[in-house]
Amino acid sequence: MSASDIRQRYTDYFVKNGHTLMPSADIVPRNDATLLFSSAGMVPFKQFFLNPATAPHKMVTTVQKCVRAGGKHNDLDQVGFTPRHHTFFEMLGNFSFGAYSKREIIHMAWKFVRQELKMPEDRLRVTVLETDDEAYDIWKNEVGVDPRRIVRCGAEDNFWSMGSEGPCGPSSEIFWDTRDPRYMESDDERWLEFWNLVFMQFHRGADGKLRPLDTPCVDTGMGLERVASILQGKVNNFDTDEFQVIIRDIDARCSPGQSSGNVDLAKALACKRIIADHLRASAFLISEGVFPSNIGRGYVLRRIIRRAVRAGRLLGINDSVLSALYPSLELAMGAAYPELMERRQLIVSVLESEEKMFLRTLDKGLVLLEGIFASGNSQRLVSGADAFSLYDTHGFPLDLTEIIARDSGWTVDVEAFAKIQRQSRERNKASWKGKLTKQDSVAREIEATCLEWEEAGVSSQFSGYDVDPEAKPTA
Ligand code: ATP
Ligand code: MG
Ligand code: MG
Ligand code: MG
Repeated sequence: MSASDIRQRYTDYFVKNGHTLMPSADIVPRNDATLLFSSAGMVPFKQFFLNPATAPHKMVTTVQKCVRAGGKHNDLDQVGFTPRHHTFFEMLGNFSFGAYSKREIIHMAWKFVRQELKMPEDRLRVTVLETDDEAYDIWKNEVGVDPRRIVRCGAEDNFWSMGSEGPCGPSSEIFWDTRDPRYMESDDERWLEFWNLVFMQFHRGADGKLRPLDTPCVDTGMGLERVASILQGKVNNFDTDEFQVIIRDIDARCSPGQSSGNVDLAKALACKRIIADHLRASAFLISEGVFPSNIGRGYVLRRIIRRAVRAGRLLGINDSVLSALYPSLELAMGAAYPELMERRQLIVSVLESEEKMFLRTLDKGLVLLEGIFASGNSQRLVSGADAFSLYDTHGFPLDLTEIIARDSGWTVDVEAFAKIQRQSRERNKASWKGKLTKQDSVAREIEATCLEWEEAGVSSQFSGYDVDPEAKPTA
């Protein structure tokens, strides 16, 4: 079943069950200063959970464009290294604003998974919040799920909230047994979460306290790419139909006979996945008028684009990569998202100018390195201070410095680099912390993300490079 068939199948099913199909809202939440991006299907309906009487329809279904990069939901570091995370993804969802509740959605969801998607029962497992006996009993006694397949979990997994404020509640999630030999060792990897049923019962106020909602509501979210991987018999989202159109194009662009560029095969694969993911995220963000900048959402976009260019370099692609791949994105997703065609010129030109600018930064770094090599240091060692200056001031990533040094018969003093970086991080952290008051929530979220990036070893200065894909474990 193609990704496009799944979108259709999902919304048809819920329309058949009385829901109204509504278009995806923008990724950039309009009139909501508390959020960086729409990270779930429920985001545009936040106020209807609090005030169901004001909802235009009591039952709604959508395919929502989501971004989880920055803010409370930040999956950027995972992309390329787990089989299931993207920065941009599509969330299939259905919502009840006071029309139905826990019992009905559990029945409806199970019927969809078993009868419409035809997933075999012995590969499914469901979770409930450990204290939610009602949900447990519905799954066991009414739906008839074998109790060995119902798992009680703590609030960290089964209590959903959108952000620090807003509607929230216990959830029940449906998992797929990948049965992939590589993943059997770890429950976390073996079992793929693909659908979250949230029973919206509370509102968390600015003071952090939970208050029960007058009318319980329902919000569900199913990741399209994950369901595609299940139904297409893959264990990695990036192996599904729409991603493969882009990844085949990337393969064709890697230097001939050198399909992995400067890195080994596992890293090359991660780089290709990062590029494919970041192409989608950056294109959709630009289509909504987000432009690369040094602050706010534009800052997140800039990091995403630069990270993709860098992954391209590691693959031996030395020119713009995202703008060049754009036709493949259109081919894969244009039918579902006509805005990709309508705003093609804008998207491609923004991508291209940002990519070219960053490529110039990289070239400048190369010239500086040549200068260091020419200085004739007898140990043929790039000092930690030089490597750090290249990284921090000029945005030139350490691993590239190492690769280029190696090619010229030099090495890099990485220990000294790490020491200087640690000291710089401490200084940056102290200066960020001082600013963490009195800001609006979006600014706070971004700053919190910068702190996270700091922890992960990413320079908080704009000129700094991004998360090092090679520092992450492969999934
Ligand atoms: P995970 O535990 O795998 O990170 P999650 O619990 O954070 O997922 P939810 O917030 O419950 O995810 O979102 C609902 C659904 O959206 C998930 O069950 C999954 O199918 C999908 N989803 C969530 N995050 C991503 C992502 N980064 N990329 C692709 N799909 C995602
Ligand atoms: Mg997650
Ligand atoms: Mg989860
Ligand atoms: Mg979840």
